[in-house]
Amino acid sequence: MKEHIFREYDIRGIFQEDLNQEIVSKIAYGIGKLLKDHDEQSICIGYDARVHSLQLFEWLSLGLAIHGIKIYDLGMIPTPVAYFATFDSALATRNSIMITGSHNPKEYNGFKITLFGKPFYGQDIQALKDSLASFGDLSLSQTPTIQKSAILQSYIDFLTQHFQSLQNFPHKIAIDCGNGVAGLGIIPVLKNLNIDFVSLYETPDGEFPNHHPDPSEEKNLLSLKNLMKEQDITIGLAFDGDADRIALLSTNHSYKGDELAILFAREIAREIAPAKPIIIGEVKCSQVMYEECDKLGSSVMYKTGHSNLKVKLKELNASLAAEMSGHIFFNDRYFGYDDAIYAGLRALELFLHKSVKEVESEILSLPQLCSTPEEKIPTQEERKFQIIQDLITKLQNPPKEFPKILDLITIDGVRVIFEEGWGLVRASNTTPVLVTRFEAKSQEKLQEYKSCILGLLQN
Ligand SMILES: [Zn+2]
Repeated sequence: MKEHIFREYDIRGIFQEDLNQEIVSKIAYGIGKLLKDHDEQSICIGYDARVHSLQLFEWLSLGLAIHGIKIYDLGMIPTPVAYFATFDSALATRNSIMITGSHNPKEYNGFKITLFGKPFYGQDIQALKDSLASFGDLSLSQTPTIQKSAILQSYIDFLTQHFQSLQNFPHKIAIDCGNGVAGLGIIPVLKNLNIDFVSLYETPDGEFPNHHPDPSEEKNLLSLKNLMKEQDITIGLAFDGDADRIALLSTNHSYKGDELAILFAREIAREIAPAKPIIIGEVKCSQVMYEECDKLGSSVMYKTGHSNLKVKLKELNASLAAEMSGHIFFNDRYFGYDDAIYAGLRALELFLHKSVKEVESEILSLPQLCSTPEEKIPTQEERKFQIIQDLITKLQNPPKEFPKILDLITIDGVRVIFEEGWGLVRASNTTPVLVTRFEAKSQEKLQEYKSCILGLLQN
């Protein structure tokens, strides 16, 4: 069995090579068993536009049918609609599987799973993996009970109602769906709200013929930027393949996840005053984000990963969580999961009472720090966590010439707080790499912190 497909936050692999009928139906059988053990009778399944998504749906259904679990077929949907379904009173199930390869190359596919109203991840996925070997050969002869659901329409109706304030939005916008599934949700809502828009690659196409559906990479935003320039459009939204990550662009700026968090946090603080918002960021977010959010309420730094952030958001009953990559989770006015369509509409609200220039200057007037992008250092899978442990030990007794360390934050890898900046080294949960990021008040300090920490890593 291909162990690597059982990852920290989801199950993902190459269709047929990793995800074949035997493995997929066993995964479904294991999930069905868990549901039965908890007296749950049903689960929703939705899928993205990949060419093999329907085949995976069939294999999952066969495995679930052995336990007599009823399946609600959500159809082709954005990932957040599979989360939305677990809150739907008509469906009345807290379980869903989204068949999606997210922003990965077209030969990939996988499952994002919600069970009993919570993300199914980490230890849950590992335990599922461990149980598969005991299942033996399954007899897949039961006919699954499948009922079609119109959840996508309920979702569109919900958003249309929720964002009535965007009727007659004063700007024309541009969107890029990257031939993923975002268009299935965002386009009807924009039309319902009479928002003037022009769209790129809105038709779902699992071959992704135009560009890779990952808006966190600059090169994938080029066609949107060109369109905005050509048509003099001041606001743009881009979505990843399954619409749980967003990118916001305006005339002179592309907003990073932590910058979006600041803008959203300010709006939320204004709306819920005198209550004060709790905002959660991941370990890669800028110090500026944490400081700005502390001025509004309080900020919490937490582990990277959409499942981690969803769980923490509920635990703290925080208003918002954000990842640099564009996973934005609204618990304020919403259900607390990462929904790029919802986040995109909340982003449009920012421009209702402020001009594009004013929103841009909110970000450009923040303290400008020097930073490195997220950088990856290849390493060995079985050594990556030990390397981080060794680094922490070394940092606890740093060499004499090392810059002064104010704090070591070890919730996910190690974030080293220096007098004029910080450095992060963490082990990726999903690939055999170490991820680094550095931020400082000057280029000089940035280079100093970076070379000191990377130096310790090599010794
Ligand atoms: Zn995604």
